[in-house]
Amino acid sequence: MLVSDMQVVDAETNTRQANSSLQEAWHLGCTGRSVEAFTLAGKILIDAKARGDDRLAAQCDTDIAWYCFQIGKAELGLTHVRRAIDFWKLHGERKEEAFARAYFGWLLLELGLPEEAIEEATRALDLADKAANPKAQSLATNVIGIIFWCNKQPDRAILMSERSVELARSIGNKNYECWWLINLGGAHSEGGYIARALGQPEEEHQMLVRALELTEQALDIAIEIGDSWAARLCLGNQAEFYSHLGEHEKAHQCMARYLLFQENSYVRDRQQYLYTLGQIYNNSGKFTEALSPLLEAVELIDAGGSFDSCVQIYLYLSQAYEGLGQLDPALEAHKKYHQAYLRNSAESTQRRARLAEIYYETKRFKEVAETESKRAETLEASYQKLQEQTDILANAVYLDALTGLYNRKYLDSRFRALASEKRPYSIAMLDVDHFKSINDDFSHMIGDRVLSTIGTIMRSQLRITDQAVRFGGEEFVVLFAGAPRGAADLCERLRSAIERWDWSEICNGLHVTISIGVAGTLSAKSPNEILAIADQNLYAAKKTGRNRVVA
Ligand code: GH3
Ligand code: MG
Ligand code: MG
Repeated sequence: MLVSDMQVVDAETNTRQANSSLQEAWHLGCTGRSVEAFTLAGKILIDAKARGDDRLAAQCDTDIAWYCFQIGKAELGLTHVRRAIDFWKLHGERKEEAFARAYFGWLLLELGLPEEAIEEATRALDLADKAANPKAQSLATNVIGIIFWCNKQPDRAILMSERSVELARSIGNKNYECWWLINLGGAHSEGGYIARALGQPEEEHQMLVRALELTEQALDIAIEIGDSWAARLCLGNQAEFYSHLGEHEKAHQCMARYLLFQENSYVRDRQQYLYTLGQIYNNSGKFTEALSPLLEAVELIDAGGSFDSCVQIYLYLSQAYEGLGQLDPALEAHKKYHQAYLRNSAESTQRRARLAEIYYETKRFKEVAETESKRAETLEASYQKLQEQTDILANAVYLDALTGLYNRKYLDSRFRALASEKRPYSIAMLDVDHFKSINDDFSHMIGDRVLSTIGTIMRSQLRITDQAVRFGGEEFVVLFAGAPRGAADLCERLRSAIERWDWSEICNGLHVTISIGVAGTLSAKSPNEILAIADQNLYAAKKTGRNRVVA
């Protein structure tokens, strides 16, 4: 055998060995040992890079993104998966790119960036469709489902998650089936919580019972395949659902079972266990019992527990102290809760900045690589890349941070496009009633939460084709396709949903209503003229007693 042949054989053996180690890592990740999976995949990655095996490195980067998600290192995962995406894209490997983009979307969501997440997830689904790969389709569909769930649109979330579970079953992938069932259950619970806030107890009950059933199915699979990570998620979720149904005993049984799967759990899991337990005690009025797990959870905040959990922990802690009538520590905990809440919002902005940085870094690497390749191709690729970045950054520029709705800048750009629109459309102008008193009576911070909740309600009540914009302060604009009559009906539905919403969850004694003015293309020509008429109608709604729609 020639020396060069031997080297080829060696390289092949290396790759085969590395691939089987990577599969071993995947198995670890599927059986509750995500930290071990992360470490092993990291070793293979370093080795692959040293040998110049870029394909294997990209495979490692893709898998590591998922382990990062499992162990709560979302930002680190982002760096890995970003690199993988570039490799798959450059080599036209659609299926692999679909997986990587789906994980990317999931991590973005975890980092509080839903708009960017949906963009990646839909691109992932598109690639998975083109590659006709049901496994990748299943993953991408699931991620889109979770984004809807987190965006408080349970109906859409349920549709997507159901599809992802079906796809997982069709290929006999038990891990996927189990994980996606957990999310399908979660989406149902969100539907239940929204129904409760809208004062529909029967609907709430139904949804939570369904959430429990689905999670039970997931738990059965998790136990069958030895996935203790998933089993913990199932039991924690079930405890929460039971607790909301008032079945406190069953909730505690779930938490007791949770401990059986905790053999190799991490700080983040432990913390989640503790605050879920605290929440369950609170819900059943056992405030003394709630204190000790919650205080232990507080201690773990500095020990590397999840930062997002911090908000939950202090909220439950203040509720426990309040329940015990210890108002001083309750206030203290509540202040910490507010601090954490604000810090989280600031963090989310920083993450956006960090994300832009990662894009730019990637772009720079790419430019260096491109100077070495052919001129024409370089231009094409960098143009495409630039276009993508512009899209993504432009999207962030068009969003309002507090409500997650579009902002004024976006409305201006839509108005320019609408000026030449032939089809009928309508514009509604909304203003919160007596918002100054809400700020004065309850605090500016509560005022902000009212605005962000209105954003949530608008997203859940409007159709996917309607576009909701925060016009400024406590004023909103909605663009509807079609004539004002249909728009007025939707506005009435929105007005009523806001009136019926359970605002006491934010603050006792809080009530919120809005007034709406509507106008359409029949009454005027340019978008600005229509907006002006909507504004006049809004003024009429205010004058005639508020909490009404005038069209
Ligand atoms: P009306 O029913 O006539 O609309 O009464 P109103 O009190 O809502 O009156 P108006 O619309 O003039 O008041 C708007 C108030 O909204 C004034 C301002 O302090 C408050 N505001 C504007 N932007 C924000 C914000 O981002 N957060 C909070 N908390 N308050 C805001
Ligand atoms: Mg106003
Ligand atoms: Mg107002």
